[in-house]
Amino acid sequence: MLIQNSFIPGNEGGKLYLVATPIGNLEDMTYRAINTLKEADFIAAEDTRQTRKLLTHFAIEGPLVSYHEHNKLRSGEEILHKLQEGKTIALVSDAGLPAISDPGEELVKEAIALGIPVIPIPGPNAALSALIASGLSTKGFVFRGFLPRGKKDLWTALESLKYYPETLIFYESPHRIEKTLKEMKEVLGSRQVALARELTKRYEEFIRGDIDEVLAYLRGLEEIRGEFTVIVSGSTEVKEEEGEAWWAELDISAHVESYLERGMDKKGALKKTAEDRGVPKREVYNIFHKS
Ligand code: SAM
Repeated sequence: MLIQNSFIPGNEGGKLYLVATPIGNLEDMTYRAINTLKEADFIAAEDTRQTRKLLTHFAIEGPLVSYHEHNKLRSGEEILHKLQEGKTIALVSDAGLPAISDPGEELVKEAIALGIPVIPIPGPNAALSALIASGLSTKGFVFRGFLPRGKKDLWTALESLKYYPETLIFYESPHRIEKTLKEMKEVLGSRQVALARELTKRYEEFIRGDIDEVLAYLRGLEEIRGEFTVIVSGSTEVKEEEGEAWWAELDISAHVESYLERGMDKKGALKKTAEDRGVPKREVYNIFHKS
């Protein structure tokens, strides 16, 4: 077990700050992010040229070191060495939260193992920004980031998510969005989706509908451009195990409730419960409303 008290006085050694940066709109930079970057001994950046532009905008000078997917072993060691010498390092990625589909995870683990405090500086993130405005259930969600590229691996990944009742969150490139949605339809079946395009930017757009509607819209575009986050409604199907139905132990109200908890609306939950049990919808309605 490891306990980290991030802000106790006397805790003056090295610290690793994970600093969120804007995903499009520079006004999303927080005061705390600016101050942390100004005060850090080093700023570790995924793309130093990109980060330099951000720093210049906010008049931050801090020395930059490069930390990206391809140098993370060597650069990670140097960063850990600096942290052990008592330096403060602020890690940023090109946009959003470091360590979310961006470099950072390994560095965080290694810093923790060395007893170095790891401190998040919260801010913009494409996945959660898209989710909250998607109109889909936010009660439970699964962030899956980028799906694999090859068809076989893509199918395996989607198959593994097929019965998740939680809302699913993906990142996708404009070149692959159509293909990915098509495969999703094949594997997951018809789902409600919300595509969040160019979040926080001038051409921010939400495309909400079922997969076929959204695909038809995309096919009508001359060119698909921008950055996409894809939100997909969770499964309302429950994988049938051999033997008893999953709801066999539930009474009718609990059966309806379990669909509501999966993000289904009341009408859908009543209908599906009636279908599962082979009883009239009216009966389910009456029992549910009396309970
Ligand atoms: N670390 C970032 C975060 O916290 O959101 C995500 C980095 S990941 C390498 C980049 C992907 O995030 C893009 O390909 C896109 O799928 C999604 N993304 C980033 N900015 C976005 C935006 N402004 N609008 C929609 N999606 C965005």
